[in-house]
Amino acid sequence: MQPRAAPASQSHDPAMKKISPSPVIRPPATIAILGGGQLGSMLAQAAGHMGYRTLCISANEDDPAARWADHHLIADPGDANVISRIAADVQVITVETESIEPAALAAAEAIGTRVAPSSHVQTIVRDRRLEKGFLAANHLAVGAFRVVESAAQMQQASVELFADGTTEILAKTARGGYDGKGQRWIRTPSQADAAWQALGQVPLVVEAKVDFVGEISVIVARSPDGTISALPVFGNEHRHGILFQTRMPADVSEHTSRAAVDLARRTAEHLKVVGLLAVEMFVLSDGRVLVNEMAARPHNSGHVTLRAASRSQFEMHIAAICGLPLPEVEILRPAVMTNLLGDLWPVESPPAATSVGGHRHPDWATVLADGRATLHLYGKTPRPGRKMGHLIHTGTSAEEALASANAAFARLKTHQ
Ligand code: AMP
Repeated sequence: MQPRAAPASQSHDPAMKKISPSPVIRPPATIAILGGGQLGSMLAQAAGHMGYRTLCISANEDDPAARWADHHLIADPGDANVISRIAADVQVITVETESIEPAALAAAEAIGTRVAPSSHVQTIVRDRRLEKGFLAANHLAVGAFRVVESAAQMQQASVELFADGTTEILAKTARGGYDGKGQRWIRTPSQADAAWQALGQVPLVVEAKVDFVGEISVIVARSPDGTISALPVFGNEHRHGILFQTRMPADVSEHTSRAAVDLARRTAEHLKVVGLLAVEMFVLSDGRVLVNEMAARPHNSGHVTLRAASRSQFEMHIAAICGLPLPEVEILRPAVMTNLLGDLWPVESPPAATSVGGHRHPDWATVLADGRATLHLYGKTPRPGRKMGHLIHTGTSAEEALASANAAFARLKTHQ
């Protein structure tokens, strides 16, 4: 590993330069990535070709990021003792998942290592109560919600939200839910108690149903000196609470696009995040946007930049946490990213030598025959609903990219 980088003072904001110099971390410095999933894997790949070295800390030998990082430490990445031990040997520490305990990040901050996102940001984004409270307190547009920590509060919140005119309520666990897990729809106040029980009697955020006409995400990169660069607006389609497809560019008006980018930028500024901030939003019929949730890390929707934009989201994250200049990200060609879930890997009985965890691989020839498709696989064992990889289709128009993506997905399903 490289010695700690000497502080430099390049800054994009002359006003801030004197007050808080932002050391640029140059290659071949070492970046620690906490967590070993596909986001960590794609971060390690980007960091590697940008000339940095990477240390991935994750629990399992065969985690996707372990294949690409220069060093892999098998340990709990949320353990403050583990992070204290490695913090002096790396120049910056980042995370690829909300599951990392903020205390682990605070341990590294205490010895002066740059941590991006900070323990403060990590604390907010991993708890829906704090996240929604932060958005509301900073006048960042968000739908009606209540924080619920008891059966009585659950009852009261649902009575209030239905009285305000909502037709349905979505109850979400404050922590640990992702890809639609830990969520339950409530259609009348009489269902509130059953939902409280079913979700495990844990703290919740309950939200009025938003009658959106579309879902989008805006990813912004923010460097330590406060410079922000927004990636193009992405259009997202979810199925069963899981992202199915992302389209770049999003099919939204210029007005909505500007409002969305402005909302994401303001959110990042209030949060003072360093690195990427992905803001998922609902688009209303009048063109307004509301924040649904945010993540201080690369985001599934941003994978579409890997093949069709001038910089990938992973390159932007590395650039931001290292204090490198943040370029504008341009769309090179219209593109569609389609997630490949474990359901596409049929159970193989009896298992063959080529099967993975008792599952047969999909018939990739059916999608690779189209030269405009790129296949990205994370190397995970299939499970229903698990994100195993994604396809990116480009086209001369958004419609053409979408038609190719949908045709490829249909072929994969029929060849199962
Ligand atoms: P989340 O895990 O919060 O991102 O929610 C997953 C998906 O559920 C979102 O992308 C939406 O499609 C849907 N959803 C979440 N919250 C709401 C809401 N308040 N109203 C309507 N749909 C929602």
